Amino acid sequence: MLNLVLFGPPGSGKGTQSALLIDKYNLVHLSTGDILRGEIAAGTALGLEAKSLMDKGDLVPDSVVIGMIKSKLENNPDAKGFIFDGFPRTTAQAEALDTLLAELNTAISGMLSLQVDDEELSKRLLLRGKDSGRADDQDENIIRNRIKEYNNKTLPLKEFYGAQNKLQEIEGVGSIEEINQKLCTAIDNL
Ligand code: AMP
Repeated sequence: MLNLVLFGPPGSGKGTQSALLIDKYNLVHLSTGDILRGEIAAGTALGLEAKSLMDKGDLVPDSVVIGMIKSKLENNPDAKGFIFDGFPRTTAQAEALDTLLAELNTAISGMLSLQVDDEELSKRLLLRGKDSGRADDQDENIIRNRIKEYNNKTLPLKEFYGAQNKLQEIEGVGSIEEINQKLCTAIDNL
């Protein structure tokens, strides 16, 4: 199986690039942000609980997102592999993912980390907020908090995957096609 963690701060292009990579490599896309927004749209209890945290730009509890990923893995027994987008975001999530994949006799193949500076991120997120209507992309304070959460809780995962020799750094600035090409080269060399 080819199991990729597409890593990077909010606005680094993970969703855009995932959409291209799932077609090329025939993978299942698992975005915890998309799943949570689906729960909110469906008005579930889980969605209601997550919404107040997401509206502030805080992370939702590890147990919630780990449970969601577990059920998605179980529901896709024939997958050729997965792209994890926006997950894991904490060390506890990364450890849980390793355990879940080991139970399926597989593992993370590589972590592709998109590098984009903070100023460019804020610019992209505010632009996306206008297009998509996502509330957490429209307020500079919320964006700042999301980037802070990323720097405090998520960035340490580079060391986690680096220690497993799975970290690949990719320059995340340029055209969508250029970045996609760099990702494909990195994946083909895994
Ligand atoms: P995203 O679409 O990945 O930017 O996620 C939007 C929001 O959903 C984040 O700001 C968090 O509140 C929540 N979220 C998504 N994925 C996770 C995760 N793996 N762990 C905790 N919170 C998450």
